[in-house]
Amino acid sequence: MRKKIVAANWKMNLTLAQGEQLVNDIIAAGIKLSEGQEVVIAPPFPYLIKVKQLIRNYPGIYLAAQNCYSEKSGAYTGEVSAEMLQSIGVDFVIIGHSERREYFSETNAQLAKKIDLALANGIKPIFCCGEPLEVRKAETQNAYVAQQLQESLYHLDAAALKNVVIAYEPIWAIGTGLTASAQQAQDMHAFIRSQIAEKFGREAALGITILYGGSAKPSNAKELFSSPDVDGGLIGGASLVAADFTAIVQSF
Ligand code: PGA
Repeated sequence: MRKKIVAANWKMNLTLAQGEQLVNDIIAAGIKLSEGQEVVIAPPFPYLIKVKQLIRNYPGIYLAAQNCYSEKSGAYTGEVSAEMLQSIGVDFVIIGHSERREYFSETNAQLAKKIDLALANGIKPIFCCGEPLEVRKAETQNAYVAQQLQESLYHLDAAALKNVVIAYEPIWAIGTGLTASAQQAQDMHAFIRSQIAEKFGREAALGITILYGGSAKPSNAKELFSSPDVDGGLIGGASLVAADFTAIVQSF
């Protein structure tokens, strides 16, 4: 059985006090995790250590960073390495979010290096892929996503891929209020899984967790998560409200 994950991507939001309150409210809600289910919280870098402390007694709740740099160490002012994240006990790192690709010009090749550094430091990458609106309109989203997978993940072997989570996030659905329909999400997730099967084998494909992201909220999470190839969600806006996030976690 592959893992089911609901991950909170806070992006560049909240003060430390607000973040602490949010984590405490999520914990206080007493969420019951189903078997094989994990909750992942991705706060901004300055709050990682604090959030780690807050969640340490709660099995099933893990810590993620929203990014790491594509070089090991050195003169890269303002950047944060995978090794640094490892040294403070980060479990996951979001790699290649569409906002990173768009606003910080991250390329598939650079993301491949980040994936390698995360894995080398024992951190599980949550690799984001997904097409912009014009690609969806042209109905070429499968080829677009296939290329993202090829250029950032296909250098791995099946053993390394076991530690990778994929998040499909159609860019036209992120923060827009437009959600992919459950069928659109399922179709793409099944396609991604078929690509993984072709390259890495059936076992790898059946084992890999594929999350959906893009305006997921309490009102649509149940339907999205009920699709056979959707193994959870990467939640932006709705992860900033404890009641919404916990409702999404309970949607499995
Ligand atoms: P959203 O963001 O839920 O606010 O659409 C999802 C994401 O970007 O991870």
